[in-house]
Amino acid sequence: MTEQRVAFVTGASRGIGRAIAERLAADGRHVVLASRSQAPLNDLKSSIESNGGAASVCAVDVGDGEALAGAIEGVVKDLGRLDILVNNAGITRDNLILRMSDEEFDEVMRVNMRSAFVACRAAARPMMKGRFGRIVSIASTSGLVGNAGQANYAASKAALVGFTRTIARELGTKGVTANVVAPGYIETDMTKDLPQPVVDHIKGLLAVRDLGKPTDIAAAVSYVSSDEAGYLTGQVITVDGGMTMV
Ligand code: NDP
Repeated sequence: MTEQRVAFVTGASRGIGRAIAERLAADGRHVVLASRSQAPLNDLKSSIESNGGAASVCAVDVGDGEALAGAIEGVVKDLGRLDILVNNAGITRDNLILRMSDEEFDEVMRVNMRSAFVACRAAARPMMKGRFGRIVSIASTSGLVGNAGQANYAASKAALVGFTRTIARELGTKGVTANVVAPGYIETDMTKDLPQPVVDHIKGLLAVRDLGKPTDIAAAVSYVSSDEAGYLTGQVITVDGGMTMV
């Protein structure tokens, strides 16, 4: 069995997930890098290893429940443990409610929400067995206060909150915590096509007047997934530059 704590991070190929993976590796975790595209994961693994860290690659579509559960079971078989699960992979399919198709709704729910359910169900047993677990799901301020054009996305992220609080109650006595980190606007591929006037408007809504960086989210995940955060569970940590303050 690997001595290091093992962290499974979905959506690790770029953006926030990549920053989380790099941070957890720097924290001394063995990080399993999961997303659909293998090439960027291989590059990230090499980069982590050249910095003295440990990583493995797991190409998986989190929308495919069977494949995702199998991937997590494979990690437990190969490395002998699973300590940290970061449900980060996520997509948007924005549309106003009158125009939103069933497919747009279902796809976002499947990738953003159902994947977290499948991953947590697969991770719960090995975590309970190890008497330690840190489950962190990446939601969004859209799921807390709503965002026009994102009925599907906001629903998926709000659902993560109720889901997380429920499993926090179910697993709390077994040393397993479950929390949500809810980013505001972070500079990644997901937000790079926002028109400049929209970005300027958003900045005006933020106490810090600037968009966040993936490393801002990674720092929060680092703490929530640490050994010392065992008394923190069922919480939503909003990292949004002071946009919502809910
Ligand atoms: P990006 O679009 O930059 O990256 C998304 C990541 O998810 C990629 O690694 C992608 O890899 C992976 N992914 C997407 N679909 C799947 C799938 N079906 N199976 C496996 N992996 C998948 O997004 P961000 O980094 O910006 O977002 C990360 C998370 O943070 C998401 O949950 C998002 O909702 C949330 N968030 C982001 C905000 C922002 O402002 N950027 C704000 C609030 C929340 P690949 O394509 O290789 O599969």
